[in-house]
Amino acid sequence: MQAHGERDVWLTPPPIPLTTAEMDHVFGLPYARSPHPAYADENGRHDGATKIPAWEMIRFSVNIMRGCFGGCTFCSITEHEGRIIQSRSEDSIIQEVEDIRDKVAGFTGVISDLGGPTANMYRIGCKTPEIEAACRKPSCVYPGICSNLNTDHGPLIKIYRRARALEGIKKILIGSGLRYDRRCSRRSTSRNWCSTTWAAT
Ligand code: SF4
Repeated sequence: MQAHGERDVWLTPPPIPLTTAEMDHVFGLPYARSPHPAYADENGRHDGATKIPAWEMIRFSVNIMRGCFGGCTFCSITEHEGRIIQSRSEDSIIQEVEDIRDKVAGFTGVISDLGGPTANMYRIGCKTPEIEAACRKPSCVYPGICSNLNTDHGPLIKIYRRARALEGIKKILIGSGLRYDRRCSRRSTSRNWCSTTWAAT
């Protein structure tokens, strides 16, 4: 609760972080992978006059993690997803890539993102769960990168390569950004991410 003059603002904390098994369960539910039929045209299609720009952006994209340890003051992700990074398993992610390949109309072999809510923090984060649970720092990367932060992108590179090797997949793009905490330790938090689309190498 935060007082603002005569009014109070109620701040709802982020939900309790999910384990990898719980994340896999949520993302493994039988989603339709299509906008609601109420928004389709008479032929059941979502192009032309019934095109939904937000759907265009996400329909070939896979969300692989939640949370952000950045704590940037201009952004609300840390506030609504929490600072603790929650990642899906490789198998769960691969299953979704295959689902998109097999079920989403118009798929041409290009996955537009294997990403997260912000620059990708897949399987990076605090090295010690007990310390992480007790730590009250608003950011793990400001004013300097915490020595207890794991910044290894190895697992992320591995899942990109595994997904790219799937039959019917031509290219995997990075649409949500990459973390540069490892190389740019003196930069401010606001410069530590990049939202440009890159081709995975
Ligand atoms: S100890 Fe460091 S890496 Fe761990 S949660 Fe706190 S600031 Fe982040």
